[in-house]
Amino acid sequence: MPMDNVQKTDPDIYHLARMELQRQREGLELIPSENFASLAVMEAQGSVLTNKYSEGYPGKRYYGGNQFVDGCENLAIDRAKQIFHADHANVQPHAGSQANMAAYFALLQPGDKIMGLNLSHGGHLTHGSPVNFSGKVYKIIPYNVHPTTHRLDFDAIERLAKEEKPQLIVAGYTAYPRQVDFKRFSEIAEATDAHFMVDMAHIAGLIAGGVHPQPFPHADVITTTTHKTLRGPRGAMILCKQEFQQMIDKAVFPGLQGGPFDHAIAAKAVCLKEAMQPEFSEYAKSIVENAAALAESLMEEGFVLVSGGTDTHLLLADLTNMKITGKEAQIALDEANITVNKNTIPYDTQSPFVTSGIRLGTPALTTRGMGKSEMKEIGRMIKRVCSALNDASVKAKVREEVLELTKKFPLYPELG
Ligand SMILES: *Cc1c(COP(=O)(O)O)cnc(C)c1O
Repeated sequence: MPMDNVQKTDPDIYHLARMELQRQREGLELIPSENFASLAVMEAQGSVLTNKYSEGYPGKRYYGGNQFVDGCENLAIDRAKQIFHADHANVQPHAGSQANMAAYFALLQPGDKIMGLNLSHGGHLTHGSPVNFSGKVYKIIPYNVHPTTHRLDFDAIERLAKEEKPQLIVAGYTAYPRQVDFKRFSEIAEATDAHFMVDMAHIAGLIAGGVHPQPFPHADVITTTTHKTLRGPRGAMILCKQEFQQMIDKAVFPGLQGGPFDHAIAAKAVCLKEAMQPEFSEYAKSIVENAAALAESLMEEGFVLVSGGTDTHLLLADLTNMKITGKEAQIALDEANITVNKNTIPYDTQSPFVTSGIRLGTPALTTRGMGKSEMKEIGRMIKRVCSALNDASVKAKVREEVLELTKKFPLYPELG
């Protein structure tokens, strides 16, 4: 992506994009929802496909001239179906939140009940936060993780579902470090006459790479982003069983969206092709191994991890015993070029702006090629910063070490 033309037309944006590239290169990106898309994905996204209008679906468009974008969309659909064992795929949702909105639109009436994980226990805004459309349009019944194990508490979930009779049960999280038993969820949904939706936004890449169980055949509908562990363009997809195909397609278009982003759909096709290669399974396996290594290192350094560890790409550190907040840790780590995000822990006593925890993940650093020994080292760096929050010299020293480390794992060297 040489940006020569941007440089000529708009030097301000060119400068900011170069600075962002430098920031990405010189930092340790530990935000679990971020990743570094391939040049192939970015080229597809930056292509002439952005010029086309193609309201409708392949073969059934409201505009002419769609023979080639139909080809792109069909490839994305076929690949998504194959990877995730789906009867049907809709690859048009612009982002994860829109995908969830469309799925609710298809499956529910306003006022219906959705059971989703409590936001402060690892759920997503679109699973029923009162400030989000989901909490305004639907009646939200939040379930919690177990008070001591911090894992999904299926007996409590089942009791709640039987009591509340929700129309939809949602599984899939933003800050839950453990594998999810989709079969158990589907049994509860079936027993209570609810639909069962999996929002696999965070773990789609792990599922594609074979290191997390598949939601199908247990789920009715799956929503996902394409830009997290799946390492594609910013965007989303909805996958479903045959019986929901029409409802889902109608909910996306004309229900919620107008023209699809054909450039983004082409980039989704590219990322799905990448996800079908054997190297992607290796990548997914390394993400999980790296998360385990980082968890081990942090625990050796005295950190307490929510649920005692991880079996996915992410971990949640409870900083209560260190007597610091998530906010303080995030700010101090930022100064050392280590990017994490503050995050509530289950049953947190701090507000969502302060929090008692930080959330870390390994997808981006694994894309850079880092491995277990780097994770060990990063765990120690995090400890040094967190135990000397106000010591500028410690942060400066760690920052230098981060610069050394990132130089050994060049990011987008082709971009100059
Ligand atoms: C990221 C995420 C979303 C929302 O995706 P956006 O593209 O940011 O709208 C929805 N659900 C879950 C579980 C997520 O992690």
